[in-house]
Amino acid sequence: MEFKDVNLVVGAGVSGAVIANLLAQNLNEEVLVIDKKTHIAGNCYDYRDENGIMVHKYGSHIFHTNNEKVWKYLKQFTDFNTYMHKVIGVLDGIETHIPFNFNTLYDVFPTSFAKRLEQKLLDIFEINTKVPVLEFQKQDDDDLKFLAKYVYEKIFLHYTTKQWEVKPEEVDGAVTARVPVYLSKDNRYFQDKYQGIPLEGYTKLVENMLNNDKIKVELGVDFSQYKNEKFKRIFYTGSIDEFFDYKFGQLPYRSVNFKLETHNRKFYQSSACVNYPCNYDFTRIHEYKYYLGDVSDKTVIAKEYSEAFEPGRNERYYPIPKDENTELYQKYLDEAKKLENVYFLGRLGDYKYYDMDKAILRALEVFEGIL
Ligand code: UDP
Repeated sequence: MEFKDVNLVVGAGVSGAVIANLLAQNLNEEVLVIDKKTHIAGNCYDYRDENGIMVHKYGSHIFHTNNEKVWKYLKQFTDFNTYMHKVIGVLDGIETHIPFNFNTLYDVFPTSFAKRLEQKLLDIFEINTKVPVLEFQKQDDDDLKFLAKYVYEKIFLHYTTKQWEVKPEEVDGAVTARVPVYLSKDNRYFQDKYQGIPLEGYTKLVENMLNNDKIKVELGVDFSQYKNEKFKRIFYTGSIDEFFDYKFGQLPYRSVNFKLETHNRKFYQSSACVNYPCNYDFTRIHEYKYYLGDVSDKTVIAKEYSEAFEPGRNERYYPIPKDENTELYQKYLDEAKKLENVYFLGRLGDYKYYDMDKAILRALEVFEGIL
C-alpha cells in the first residue's frame, strides 16, 4: 500500500485525536491513527462497567480550562456536565479540603487559633491569592512558621515522597505549585472558567473526534510496523526517546498502579477524590460514580499507588520535570528538528506534564503550524 498521501498519527489519545480530526475535517486529508493499546483515548480511556459506573481506567480525569479556543473546539464533540472537582484530604484522621484554604484552617485548628492565623495571613497576602507551598514557608512570624510547617508536613511531604520518591523541595517547583495554599474559602481544586466531565465519557469524546471517513484507526499496532513506510507527515505522541530507539538513554517517567475495588454499598467516601498525604502507601482513592452521577447500589473505587516507570511492565504517566531530564529531552528535540514532516506532541512527545487542555492546545497549535 502507498502512504505518501497519508498522515500517520502515532497514539490515539487526546493529542493524536485532535491532530487526526483537524487533518481530516479541515484539510480533507487521509489519516492513519495507530495505537499500541487495544483501545482509543490513551490514558483518558473510560468505560462503563457491569454496574453502569463510568470507570476512568488510568485514574481520574477532570477537564478544566480557561482557554476559549480549546473549550469551543471540544464542544463540537461533546457536552460537559457542571462538575466542579473538590478534593478531600485526610490529615491526622480529619477530613478537610485540599488545596489548603481558610476552611481547612478551621477544620484542623481550634477556632481561636484559626482566627488568629487567618488574620495574620490576610495582613500579608491578599484574599484569593494562591501561594505555592515552597513560597509559603518563607514566613517570619512564629504562628505562620508553624502553619507553613504544618501544611508542608501534613499535605506535601509524604504525598510527594510517595508520588515522586523525593522531597517537595527536590521536585520542580511547578509540580507542587499545582496545588498551592489558597487564601480563600473556595474549596474547588480548579478555578478555571470551564470545567466538567464529558457527558458520555472521554472515550466517546475521542471516538467522536476520530469519526471521519478520512480517518482509519488501527489498535494494538506498534509504530515499528510502519517505521519504514514513507508518509506525508508523521505526528508522534509516544515518548520521544522511543522514537529515536533510546539512542541517548531513556527519559524517566513515574507510573501509577490503580487497584480497583467494587464495594456493595452506594458510596465508599464523601467525595470523588480523597487524598491520604499522611497515611498508607497509596496517595489517593478515586470513587468514580461521582463524576457523572451514576446511580447504582454498588460503587467502584481505585487506590492509586505511584511507582517508577519500567518499560514493558507499566505505563508512562508523568514526565519528571528535572534539569537533567530536560537536558536529555533537549538532545532528542535537537534530533527531532533535523527531521522533515515529523511532529512531536502530547505529554510523552513533548516530555511535559501537560493537563488535558494544554495537550489539546498544543495539538491545535501544531496543526496551525503546518497550515
Ligand atoms: N501534592 C501533595 N499533596 C496533595 C496533593 C498534591 O503533595 O495532597 C503535590 C504532589 O507532589 C503532586 C503535586 O502536588 O504530585 C501535583 O498534584 P496534582 O493533584 O496536580 O497531581 P495529578 O492530579 O496531576 O497527579
